[in-house]
Amino acid sequence: MGYIQFENLNKYFGSNHVLIDISLNIERGELATLLGPSGCGKSTLLRCLAGLEEVSDGRITMDGKDITDVPPKKRGIGMVFQQYSLFPNMTVAQNIAFGLNMKKVAKDDIQRKITEIAGIVGLADKLQDYPAQLSGGQQQRVALARAIVTEPKVLLLDEPLSAIDAKLRRNLQIEIRRIQQEFDMTTIFVTHDQDEAMVMSDTIHLFNQGVIEQSGTPTDLYTHPVSKFAASFIGNYNILSAADFEKACGEAVDSPDVAIRPEIVRINIESDDEAARFHLEGTVVGSISHGNLIRYTVRCNGVDINADIMFEKSSLLSMGQTVRLSIRKSNVILI
Ligand code: ADP
Ligand code: MG
Repeated sequence: MGYIQFENLNKYFGSNHVLIDISLNIERGELATLLGPSGCGKSTLLRCLAGLEEVSDGRITMDGKDITDVPPKKRGIGMVFQQYSLFPNMTVAQNIAFGLNMKKVAKDDIQRKITEIAGIVGLADKLQDYPAQLSGGQQQRVALARAIVTEPKVLLLDEPLSAIDAKLRRNLQIEIRRIQQEFDMTTIFVTHDQDEAMVMSDTIHLFNQGVIEQSGTPTDLYTHPVSKFAASFIGNYNILSAADFEKACGEAVDSPDVAIRPEIVRINIESDDEAARFHLEGTVVGSISHGNLIRYTVRCNGVDINADIMFEKSSLLSMGQTVRLSIRKSNVILI
């Protein structure tokens, strides 16, 4: 039994059926990510869990207790949003203390907790600053500290990093993960960014228009997408119709589509397991540099296939060059 369970949850906004019969388990202490495109219902699910949105049908349990109708304040849930909504006229210390004051924690304890959490999120020297004096990343860390310091049973993070630039964002992803593990805090993280989901999660729940398309570890989702949607959302899969696959590889498959990861497509290699591979002849028609790797597009009998190779001067290909692709048969995923 999961620590948090959504059971046949439905949510309508008027006639808009936003969450469709969602059943989902979150384990104690894990970081579970809700991943999906904008508008698919991620925030609505979080808001239902926090009690900020009423459920139309179904129930939510936490630690075995039905909390579907428990008021938000009594759920023991902390939440951080994309907009950090710090109090501009309060210092960092006062912002962090806010929830503790509300809970009427003793003054000495508040001081001790603020000092401790400020150290953990790297804000020890900023406690007397005002939000306007901080960078976006620092403000987001204050928001995080403010939520964590109250020691919620569950922490909800709704796209907390989407307004932050790439490099800092990567640091904060690692920091959030570290803090979450240090406090062993059951956390639900929302993002539309597959890389972020891969880096941070114990479990990913992939959302598509109000339903969960696939749940699993990052590696599961990356290596075994169960549908065209999953394959197109995670990784950079080549998705070929059965007809195109047959045109390119010369063999029929028993599924509507196949998915092939670009990094398992090999170019001009000899191998000792030729029988275990498909072999394709093609012409290089495109290349994009991703820094450490190059993604070549190779046209095989009219079908374009992307192949990634590590960047090395000696293996660069030129446009129009004829190449031989090789794909291990067991790496072709039927979807
Ligand atoms: P996500 O967080 O995945 O981007 P949301 O949960 O915010 O998606 O929204 C899912 C759907 O519910 C969207 O179609 C959105 O327009 C609708 N929606 C969200 N909140 C409300 C609301 N308060 N009133 C009406 N419709 C809403
Ligand atoms: Mg949202």
